[in-house]
Amino acid sequence: MSVEHPMHVVIAGAGVAGLEAALALRELAGDLVAVELVAPEAEFRYRPLSVAEPYGYGEMRRFPLDRLVEATGATLRTGSVSALDADAKEVTLTDGTTIGYDTLLVATGVGAREAVPGAVTFGGPGDREALGALLDRAKAGEVKRIVFTRPPTPLWPLPLYELAFQTAERLTAELARGIEIVVATPEPAPLELFGRAASDEIARLLEIRSIEFRPHVVPLRWEDGALHLAPGGSLEADAVVSLPRLVGEPIEGLPQDESGFVATDELGWVLGLSDVYAAGDITDFPVKQGGIAAEQADTVASAIAADAGAPVRPRTFEPVLRGLLLTGMYPRYLRSEHEGRASAVDSQPLWWPPAKIVGRHLSPFLAEQLGLAVDVPPPAGHAVPVEVAIDTSDHAKWARV
Ligand SMILES: Cc1cc2nc3c(=O)[nH]c(=O)nc-3n(C[C@H](O)[C@H](O)[C@H](O)COP(=O)(O)OP(=O)(O)OC[C@H]3O[C@@H](n4cnc5c(N)ncnc54)[C@H](O)[C@@H]3O)c2cc1C
Repeated sequence: MSVEHPMHVVIAGAGVAGLEAALALRELAGDLVAVELVAPEAEFRYRPLSVAEPYGYGEMRRFPLDRLVEATGATLRTGSVSALDADAKEVTLTDGTTIGYDTLLVATGVGAREAVPGAVTFGGPGDREALGALLDRAKAGEVKRIVFTRPPTPLWPLPLYELAFQTAERLTAELARGIEIVVATPEPAPLELFGRAASDEIARLLEIRSIEFRPHVVPLRWEDGALHLAPGGSLEADAVVSLPRLVGEPIEGLPQDESGFVATDELGWVLGLSDVYAAGDITDFPVKQGGIAAEQADTVASAIAADAGAPVRPRTFEPVLRGLLLTGMYPRYLRSEHEGRASAVDSQPLWWPPAKIVGRHLSPFLAEQLGLAVDVPPPAGHAVPVEVAIDTSDHAKWARV
């Protein structure tokens, strides 16, 4: 590959992984690659704050996708990939168009399915009204015990805790007394994927808020005032809120497991195919999180850049989990690596910039789009995943990025 004949990289999906990969490729490979993103929507929807919408604490941010993609130096094609032919090196869109590629990155994310029949399913922005209606019923005294739960399948568990904390805070603020709130999950301890220190702190916060924690719970359905569990038993509940089950939507020619997830090697290469990579929620990595999606995208970008001839050493995927938990009071910054063995929690940022989705390139890029970045160095002593200069008095604003 050369600047005269750049590698044509097609990225299916323009969400967190797709945009992060486009940005990383621009930095690592420059004109050695020509990047084309394919996605059906007109907006990039930044979903983390949708968990605050039902409580009036924040709202989901939307960015016009064409402007974002242009700013990454890539091009955007509106469409949905329905099939790929790795031998012919082309993808087919649902309208029948075919696009050839030198290298393909599948970053199509996941779809959400109801996990607990009878429960309010909270999967993001579209479910704000259902949750708002539940809060209204609680305030009116019609609901006395709300159980927040999740299926035992791969997902991002933070929103469950954020909903429970914010519900407790809101009901207290509205002087709605005597409403029991329960978090009932398959986890052995609260947010145990963040390791011991973080889990202990979340347990403490739950206790302070009088939120009951029930571990080892696998929910089946809500019926007749009870959450029925597997393999047996039930929990009393006037209402249940559940996170959805996530699935990878099928793409013909892409090897996917029974949940639609894609197996990759440590560089993001899709097992069994040539010149096809995958990153983000569509992969079979068990945590479906934006920060992880961005880390995977950076890994893939390094491998593609090296392949395109850039002086770059491919960087294997070594996940670091960073979560900013909305608690209804001070947020908590949670960080873990080595499968939870290194665990940290603080009410001050543990990374910089302290965005909710941590992307080496995406966080500063989105901040720039919002006019947030300024040229003051980050606070001393904080881990800095991105080299971006920031106004240190801006925590509150950053927590919304
Ligand atoms: C309510 C909620 C709160 C969250 N909070 C956080 C948080 O605080 N921190 C955090 O790190 N993560 C959070 N997440 C998770 C995070 O949003 C996801 O992990 C992340 O968006 C995954 O990135 P992705 O690129 O894999 O998928 P997505 O960001 O979902 O992007 C997928 C892209 O692929 C496109 N696409 C789909 N099918 C096709 C197709 N066939 N062809 C072409 N394009 C296609 C989509 O339109 C989209 O552009 C939250 C998620 C939810 C729902």
